[in-house]
Order: sequence, then structure tokens, then C-alpha cells
Amino acid sequence: MSKKEFLDAVATEIIVCTKCPLWKTRKNAVPGEGNSESPVMFIGEAPGQSEDIKGKPFVGAAGNFLETMFSEIGLSRNDVFICNIVKCRPPRNREPMPNEIQTCTPYLDRQIKIIKPKIIVTLGNYSTAYIFSKANLAFSGITQTRGKFYQATILDMQITIFPTFHPAAALYSAKYKEMLQRDFLLLKSKLARRAINT
Ligand code: URA
Ligand code: SF4
Repeated sequence: MSKKEFLDAVATEIIVCTKCPLWKTRKNAVPGEGNSESPVMFIGEAPGQSEDIKGKPFVGAAGNFLETMFSEIGLSRNDVFICNIVKCRPPRNREPMPNEIQTCTPYLDRQIKIIKPKIIVTLGNYSTAYIFSKANLAFSGITQTRGKFYQATILDMQITIFPTFHPAAALYSAKYKEMLQRDFLLLKSKLARRAINT
């Protein structure tokens, strides 16, 4: 089976999942989507209202800004794989709870094992905390951690982690917006160096 077929099999399980209470209030689970052969994976927090309605990740206001940043560095959302640590929308967009993260992340782990990304870009506190814990790295908050590349072993794979702010932060603060754009430019040069070296 191809990576796409394996990912589709995981998605089929997610859309009917009832393992944590979030299934009761969702309209649609959001497994994630994009290029299954991509070396780059973007991981956000949890679906919001637009994502819950459409069943797709980052299709609301934060997603629009994410797409703008993709185009600023010559990427499109179809070039990468985009998903979240929690696959169903928490009611009123509250933060995901520890039990929800714990119950849902085996799906994310399976997606990572299938895709075998070279770079994981974590968007915001929750996804960075989760991926850092998988890598046995100490996490001291997104502001401290962001904008740097970390060489890590995750699920027995060598993966570079690049944490940055959640794109929703840019909608509230010009300062965060500017830092996010700067981080994306760093990512662009990293991807360009990888292309030359491989
Ligand atoms: N915020 C997220 O973290 N993920 C989405 O898919 C949308 C908004
Ligand atoms: Fe299942 Fe995850 Fe949705 Fe909870 S959030 S119901 S574990 S898919």
C-alpha cells in the first residue's frame, strides 16, 4: 500500500472515532490532509468551527493566514501535510484537555510513522509540547522555543522539529505576526538547503 492508502485507512478510523467525549459535539472529525509524500508536516492544535464544518484542517481565519505565509515562502498547502494533535473540535474552541490529547494522539503518531517527515513544524504551545515530549526534549514554552531547529528522535526516526507560534496568534497581535513571518523565512532557507544537499 502507498503512504496515501495507509493515511486514508487512519482517516477512515478517525471520522467514526468515539474514543474521547469530543465526538459527541463534533460535526466532522478532521484527520488532516495534504501531500503524503511531503518531507514536511505541519501540526496544529485542534479544529475550530470552520474546520469542524468542513472536515478539513486550517480552513478558517487562522488557515487563511497560514496559506498567506505558505505563499510567501513559495509553498502551497498541497505541498505539505497538515494536521492537528486533536482531531475533533473542543466545544467553543476551548483548549484541548490532557485526556483528550492522550486519547487522540495515537492517531497522530500513526500519521507521523506513515509519512516519515524530515521536518515537523509545530504550531503553538500544545503541539510543540506534545512533539517535544515524544522527543524527550524539555519544553519551556513556545516563546522560548520558537524559531530554532531541533534535531530529535521521534518514534525511532531522525526528525528536525521547528516550533513556531500558532497562526491564530497573528490575528490578535502584529508582533506575533511579524515573528511568525520571520520564522517562515527561516524555514524557507532550511528547505532550500535541504534541496541542495539531497
Ligand atoms: N487551529 C488549529 O490548531 N487547527 C486547525 O485546523 C484550525 C485552527
Ligand atoms: Fe476520537 Fe480524537 Fe475525536 Fe476524541 S478527538 S473522538 S480520540 S478522533
